[in-house]
Amino acid sequence: MTSSAHDVVVIGGGVTGAGVARDLARRGASVLLLEKDDYGGGTSGASSWMIHGGPRYLEFDWRTTRLSCEDAGKIVRIARHMVHRVVFLLPVLAGDRHNLEQLETAMEVYDRFQPLKLSNPHLRLTADEARRLEPGLSDQLLGALTMEEWGLDPHRLVWANVQDAIENGARASNHSRVVDLVRDGRQVLGVRYRGPDGTLHEARARVTVNATGPWSGELGRLAGVPIELRPAKGIHIVYDRRLSNFAISADAVDGRGLLMVPHGNFTLAGTTDDDFYGDPDDLEVLPDEVDYILQAFDRVFPSLRNHRAIRATAGVRPTIFRWRSYEDDLSRRYEIVDHSDAPGLVSALGGKLSMYRLMAEETADLVCRKLGIEGPSTTGTAPLPGSEVAAEPPAELAARYGISALAAARLQTRQGCRAPRVFDREGGRGLVCRCEPITVAELRHVARQEQVRTLGDAFRRVGLAAGPCSGALCVERAAQVVGDELGWSLGQCRQSAAEFRAELWLGRAPVLDRWGWAEQELIAGGRGRT
Ligand SMILES: Cc1cc2nc3c(=O)[nH]c(=O)nc-3n(C[C@H](O)[C@H](O)[C@H](O)COP(=O)(O)OP(=O)(O)OC[C@H]3O[C@@H](n4cnc5c(N)ncnc54)[C@H](O)[C@@H]3O)c2cc1C
Repeated sequence: MTSSAHDVVVIGGGVTGAGVARDLARRGASVLLLEKDDYGGGTSGASSWMIHGGPRYLEFDWRTTRLSCEDAGKIVRIARHMVHRVVFLLPVLAGDRHNLEQLETAMEVYDRFQPLKLSNPHLRLTADEARRLEPGLSDQLLGALTMEEWGLDPHRLVWANVQDAIENGARASNHSRVVDLVRDGRQVLGVRYRGPDGTLHEARARVTVNATGPWSGELGRLAGVPIELRPAKGIHIVYDRRLSNFAISADAVDGRGLLMVPHGNFTLAGTTDDDFYGDPDDLEVLPDEVDYILQAFDRVFPSLRNHRAIRATAGVRPTIFRWRSYEDDLSRRYEIVDHSDAPGLVSALGGKLSMYRLMAEETADLVCRKLGIEGPSTTGTAPLPGSEVAAEPPAELAARYGISALAAARLQTRQGCRAPRVFDREGGRGLVCRCEPITVAELRHVARQEQVRTLGDAFRRVGLAAGPCSGALCVERAAQVVGDELGWSLGQCRQSAAEFRAELWLGRAPVLDRWGWAEQELIAGGRGRT
């Protein structure tokens, strides 16, 4: 067993842990960040991909809306290469929970917060105007309002925070599970973890940060402290293209608000919000959950059911515990706990993607007070890697490296102004997949520079197999490219491809219709390969 010593060990490489590691590293602390699977592979990646203020919380949690809007404004500025504006149409039909006047009153209040995150105020549209913008909307429409939020790929946001932490001196390792805490009586002195190759290591730390989201209770048990959350499961259905240019809201059968959001070239529809008592490592998407979402959109955007869903995602919200409240009405606030009965341990609980930075800053403030480190957080103004300067026009990048403008634009949403570094070695301008313009060069780059250790990691880092073919055309090729970089044997390439296909299959099965099953047969038989 090897051992190392640090100021801080951060457990959990979701958006919270990555944000804490970044903040502390920038203030000069020596940091080790450990993630048991892959960065962003927990709740963060399974979110709705929105940096939003949460107008819904205005009714019962005004403070969270304000803090989210303030922090969203900072995130939009530091991560400008990866954010895109999401304009919503909020359609109103007879029998909806809110009529047009009520909804417009709520939007007038929300408009006061919108400038905090560089968003525009709402507009009111007649039914004709709304249907002209989105012909797929129901002909029963009474009218609609607009609302603006921001979208981004949370996997890239998490990685950018990890990358910045590393560039500021932190160490970070994915596929590294903390299996125990090093303790002296109640005092927490660090962690024991299994690294990517299964070896056991000990890492001593003056402060250990528990940023494990819905796994926080499990970590608390290792320290002998009770951590009570009210975890809630949420699923999304993923479609293989943009089904609309605007995001669209819908009332579900129980009055909950659901969203259908185009991000880049795919669409997310969701989400559910149900108390969850199981193991966050064992999430299953149930047919009832899929039906619940489709039923809501049958009223508002009836063609949704006819489109091709390519997978479903599931995550568990790490919501702070509260008794006697519906899941939807639970506050999305966060809490930073300095465990007096387990000195040396700090937990960052609850929160949202949209205010992860603030939550991380406050956690780092507490840790710095313990370590005697002075100096303010810089994460609200320092750009994330790739956002240091504006990226060049995609057509110029495309012409210089002989790739399509679409491939260049996609690459820039992931790498920003650092995109040219991807081509720092000769060759590799060909595409890994016909339906997702990912170049061989980019896949090589992330295998070398971004801790891609499995094809699943490549899915999170560059969207491998996220397109319409769902891996049928690209898994074998990708295994070769990643395998070349990581020194895999032919057998290891085959095994990685098989494991990745099984992973993709688990995500697809809940949403397959009969054509989807037939297609799956083709993929399984290898006949879908080129
Ligand atoms: C369906 C859904 C939609 C959502 N949509 C939005 C949205 O659009 N906007 C928004 O602002 N918020 C949204 N949220 C909330 C948001 O996603 C979460 O609040 C946030 O991502 C939590 O991040 P986290 O880092 O705390 O947890 P996680 O992302 O779950 O990270 C915790 C990490 O800890 C790791 N870990 C656990 N145990 C160990 C261990 N022993 N050793 C090492 N690592 C360990 C896990 O593998 C995991 O990666 C949504 C949530 C859900 C469920």
